[in-house]
Amino acid sequence: MLGLMQHHPLLISSLIEHAASAHSKSQVVSHSTDSPTHRCTYSDINRRAKKIAGALTALGIREGDRVGSLAWNGYRHMELFFGISGMGAVLHTVNPRLFPEQIEYIVNHAEDEYLFFDIGFSSLVEKLAPTLKTVKGFIAMTDRGNLPSLKIPNLLCYEDLVANQYSNYDWPSLDENTASSLCYTSGTTGNPKGVLYTHRSTLLHAMQTCMPDSMGLSATDTLFIATPMYHVNAWGMPYACAMTGAKVVLPGAALDGESIYRSMLDEAVTVSLGVPTVWLAFQQYVKEKNLQPKQDLILNRVLIGGAAAPRVVVETFEESFGARVIHAWGMTETSPLVTLCNPLMKHHGENLEERIKLQSKQGRVQFGVSIKLTDDNGKTLEQDGKTSGHLLVRGHWIASKYYHVEGRSFLDEEDWFDTGDIATIDEDGYMQITDRAKDLIKSGGEWISSIALENAATRHPSIAEAAVIAIAHQKWQERPLMIVVAKNDCEISKQELLDYLGDKVAKWSLPDDVVFVDELPHTATGKLQKMKLREQFGNFKFHSV
Ligand code: ADP
Repeated sequence: MLGLMQHHPLLISSLIEHAASAHSKSQVVSHSTDSPTHRCTYSDINRRAKKIAGALTALGIREGDRVGSLAWNGYRHMELFFGISGMGAVLHTVNPRLFPEQIEYIVNHAEDEYLFFDIGFSSLVEKLAPTLKTVKGFIAMTDRGNLPSLKIPNLLCYEDLVANQYSNYDWPSLDENTASSLCYTSGTTGNPKGVLYTHRSTLLHAMQTCMPDSMGLSATDTLFIATPMYHVNAWGMPYACAMTGAKVVLPGAALDGESIYRSMLDEAVTVSLGVPTVWLAFQQYVKEKNLQPKQDLILNRVLIGGAAAPRVVVETFEESFGARVIHAWGMTETSPLVTLCNPLMKHHGENLEERIKLQSKQGRVQFGVSIKLTDDNGKTLEQDGKTSGHLLVRGHWIASKYYHVEGRSFLDEEDWFDTGDIATIDEDGYMQITDRAKDLIKSGGEWISSIALENAATRHPSIAEAAVIAIAHQKWQERPLMIVVAKNDCEISKQELLDYLGDKVAKWSLPDDVVFVDELPHTATGKLQKMKLREQFGNFKFHSV
């Protein structure tokens, strides 16, 4: 017997409709090139998103068509999040930091029909335009007055599109499994692959994000979104904010320490999120300037993901800012949030040292998704906090296939997706990433975690960043090589660093050598590019240190 309740599809348009009516005055604050601080409300975003949907309809865009964006975090980009998905088309957020050949590849692969772009990317678009075969027109995200003269074919102006539309557009009712947005993986592990989210997966992910043991986002929060909107939809935050009515701060391209601090101060930011590299640089700025964040700011939590949160970042937020780090794990294929590290009742009253130890874990699984560990043969492993294995995940917001990649689904018969990460899960369900499967160092039958070594090294006050890669070894098969960047004006020798690591990691896992470099290669999303390091140090030979 079926129940007798109403059924309404879970649609992205319902988020902005809700925000516009229940939180109509909540602000969306943006920093951009053509207007240093722009303020609008969710009602404005809804009204203008509808105009964009109307304008795209007039340009011939239909349900399922892909429309690209090449833009920083700003209110116009937010309007595209709701306008394009809301009309049933697919928003394809393109990462402008990819190599131009990669952008050309993914825009052609996605077959985008129009491309919206921030005018800061004008020269990139001028260069790429002739190679983008399916793009019928390019829409500069600015007004006429700020539109430079550009050599771009079929160039349109965003504010003209908005101005020429009436406000009478109605969001269509769609099947909740309709595709809503498309993100390509950053290509750390090969060619970028497209992950195609649905309205339903996006809404369920957003709803879970707002739960108290997740990010606990609410109408009383002001969220500073340091994660780019082209990186897994800013981890789904624009949707979660509309769901809760939280005030939003969108920083544009300004992710330097000074700009972040000013925004946090001026806008009374309570919560933020981003990858570790952003926070490392931010905390360094705060230290150099001798600022007093604990007194100045009301920031109380920071979500960190994308790479392991270094202990020093967690400690600094805790001690100097009075803010708690919520360590989280996810990937493009998982929308991205799967686990978040929040304490349980039993952790209340624990001292700082114990809390920080707990926060080094990537956290507990959220309702709606499940995780498990398996060995190389697919056998499920124990969750004892010690046994490490392949991390598998399944659930409502996990991809089942890549976009336009022929062949079977990449899931097993029970829908489990192998993440490519190696992890442990303890008795309380806290998952800890030990490595990416291909980054592990396999030394004489033992696995050495490159992440554990990197974390230990970055706790040294003179070390800014560290990367550990496996180097072939005659006797042990592989041994770790540590490549480090010292902080400005800091002197540290190889031996000093090894002595420091000596009591922090098992002796047999100590790196066989340490190399100092000026900088480490990062992907477009700020992750260490170990593939590049492996190329660079491919012929490295150990000599005794
Ligand atoms: P790509 O796979 O192209 O780098 P993603 O952004 O999807 O792009 O990266 C997902 C990967 O990032 C995960 O598989 C994991 O290895 C890593 N990752 C994400 N969050 C964390 C975290 N908190 N700690 C350690 N690694 C993380």
